[in-house]
Amino acid sequence: MHTFAYVRPTTVAEAVAILDAGGRDARVLAGGTDLVIRLRDGSATPTTVIDLKRIADLRPGVREEGGRLTISATTVMTDVAADPLVRRHFPALAEAAAVVGSVQIRNRATLGGNVCNASPAADTATPLLVFDATVVAEGPGGTRRIAIDDFFVRSGVTTLQRGELVTAIELPIPAVATGSAHVRRTRRRGHDLASVTLSVRVDALGVTRFAYGSVGPRPVLAVDDTGVLADPAVPAEARSAILERMFADASPSPRSMRASPAYRLAMLRVLGARALRSAIEQLAAGSD
Ligand SMILES: Cc1cc2nc3c(=O)[nH]c(=O)nc-3n(C[C@H](O)[C@H](O)[C@H](O)COP(=O)(O)OP(=O)(O)OC[C@H]3O[C@@H](n4cnc5c(N)ncnc54)[C@H](O)[C@@H]3O)c2cc1C
Repeated sequence: MHTFAYVRPTTVAEAVAILDAGGRDARVLAGGTDLVIRLRDGSATPTTVIDLKRIADLRPGVREEGGRLTISATTVMTDVAADPLVRRHFPALAEAAAVVGSVQIRNRATLGGNVCNASPAADTATPLLVFDATVVAEGPGGTRRIAIDDFFVRSGVTTLQRGELVTAIELPIPAVATGSAHVRRTRRRGHDLASVTLSVRVDALGVTRFAYGSVGPRPVLAVDDTGVLADPAVPAEARSAILERMFADASPSPRSMRASPAYRLAMLRVLGARALRSAIEQLAAGSD
């Protein structure tokens, strides 16, 4: 393995200063489930690796405050999936965290690492998009709040700037009743990134938000505010025209080893219809 300096700062300010000084040669280490593999295979060759685990202000955890949930960037998937507040207000996020990798991976993999790694197949990206999350970043210029839809650029690339690290993810608690679901398609059970990931959220005002990943360079958000998709009484033909519009931005790569574009596009529609049904059922059950 390529050699690098390994540092364990104890404050966010210290970490930001090291990250800023190192520029492209410095990399943050959270759970290491993506980074350590890249260090081993030589696709990442930083000169400095900055471990976040000793920073008291980045302690893992979820808190509710001012009408929103704040999830520390270092919170691992196991804890996101089990958290009662996440499960109550953002079920699709809990479902997504619960299917990442394996038990061992989920005990290490952090929410911050999943979004910063910016894989088009990242499981938590799509629920964060449907729930309108905000990424909180700390950098040399202070705190910056980035709407999650403005965060992803393409695989491995985000709009984080030099010296910035993600400290938390914020989620506005919905003001009206909602139902949501996260689904995905993998080649096999177990440790595999998905060929398609999809999350949906419907609310009592009739707004439906879909987000899908692994079918293009970055996850995509599509919103229907006509009320048609959220209404199960609307005939199938009227719904399918809108569904087609929602999925229009899918552009799977023909070079992927996981699945062909035709298969992914077909699965996107199957998963979309399935997830929408369960989100509508959840909304109806919650409104009883
Ligand atoms: C066997 C296996 C199975 C997997 N299965 C899945 C799966 O099913 N679904 C899925 O979505 N992912 C999966 N992954 C990928 C990985 O586990 C996740 O992306 C994980 O959430 C990454 O988090 P981490 O804390 O380990 O990140 P790290 O590996 O520590 O970091 C990942 C990247 O993000 C940067 N980074 C981390 N934290 C921050 C921060 N706070 N601020 C700025 N930059 C930061 C790092 O510098 C690095 O570039 C799998 C990985 C493995 C090895």
